[in-house]
Amino acid sequence: TLASLESFEEMPVMRTEQGREEFEQALEEGIRFRPQRSVARFEGNGRVRRVKMIGVKRTYDENGRFAPVFDESVTDEVEADLVILAIGQKPEFPFLRPEDGIELTPAGTVKIDRETLATTAPGVFAGGDAAFGPRNLIDAIANGKRAAQSIDDYLNEAPGEPAFWFRFEKIPTRRFDRRPDYDRVPRRPPPATDLERRTGISEVEHAYPAEEAKDQADRCLACHIQTIYDAEKCVLCNRCVDICPEHCLKLVPLDEIDLPAEQLEAAKAAAAEAGGELSAMLKDDEVCIRCGLCAIRCPTDAMTMEVLYYEQK
Ligand SMILES: Cc1cc2nc3c(=O)[nH]c(=O)nc-3n(C[C@H](O)[C@H](O)[C@H](O)COP(=O)(O)OP(=O)(O)OC[C@H]3O[C@@H](n4cnc5c(N)ncnc54)[C@H](O)[C@@H]3O)c2cc1C
Ligand code: SF4
Ligand code: SF4
Repeated sequence: TLASLESFEEMPVMRTEQGREEFEQALEEGIRFRPQRSVARFEGNGRVRRVKMIGVKRTYDENGRFAPVFDESVTDEVEADLVILAIGQKPEFPFLRPEDGIELTPAGTVKIDRETLATTAPGVFAGGDAAFGPRNLIDAIANGKRAAQSIDDYLNEAPGEPAFWFRFEKIPTRRFDRRPDYDRVPRRPPPATDLERRTGISEVEHAYPAEEAKDQADRCLACHIQTIYDAEKCVLCNRCVDICPEHCLKLVPLDEIDLPAEQLEAAKAAAAEAGGELSAMLKDDEVCIRCGLCAIRCPTDAMTMEVLYYEQK
């Protein structure tokens, strides 16, 4: 049985397609959910036997902040011989002594320079969840790399060469190609062990067969590829805006842009000098699917697709 403060709609797992898949799998495995419940007390005699719960009217306030409101008129209970609490995580540092000089933040994480990951004690570096609070694996791994570079700098008493750099490369428009339905390929869950064969904590999801893996990889929106706009070449024909299937481009008069007064005046002066009116190209990168249609349609090569390379030592 899984009890949660949140209603089904509020559960974080429901926010993503993958999460909803996992929720369905949990139902299939026989997990019973008790949403909108808060633990009131554990009962037992030397060993837990029962969890008593009360109702929860709501978990978040109107601003989306965690602010549960309980409802004691609703009571509920579950027989249990094992209770696993999943109520957030916080690092523990009982081994730190004041003379170590490693300060903590009010949130209880290690105080660090977010750029170098140096703690307040010279020569000691920290990263991952202990320094940033609960996050994810990829950030923790990136912190490991960053800290290694900082340690190298520290030991050599000088900043070394940058460990990574970026490079842009224009993709010739005629070569920019995606399979036609790449944005409609449905997500397929990976193959899983049959329900009756699942035991213990062994993995239940397996790798896709090669063909399906390739098919699923085609769903990638290639976020390392960007539309790059060259205002000097743009003739304001609006073709890119018209063709964009996601409506993420917009050409607007400069007056509609909320710019600091100084910048607006400078732009207007430049426009007057050039004898024309200034427009701005707006793009909502969050919804761009990197289809390349804007670049293909552009008559002057003002819109191009460019790939961002991340390179490191
Ligand atoms: C249930 C759960 C599911 C998650 N799922 C995902 C996921 O699907 N994808 C994802 O990206 N992230 C996920 N995360 C988050 C991810 O696991 C963490 O962000 C990541 O592991 C943090 O790495 P870290 O190296 O900072 O800390 P940890 O991985 O926690 O490593 C800290 C290590 O320090 C050791 N340690 C602690 N105290 C001491 C001590 N005094 N002396 C010596 N060693 C000590 C611990 O044993 C541990 O091995 C999940 C986290 C949880 C709890
Ligand atoms: S790449 Fe496609 S989705 Fe993105 S701005 Fe251009 S036309 Fe729109
Ligand atoms: S299609 Fe090219 S020239 Fe026309 S508005 Fe878009 S970027 Fe400018």
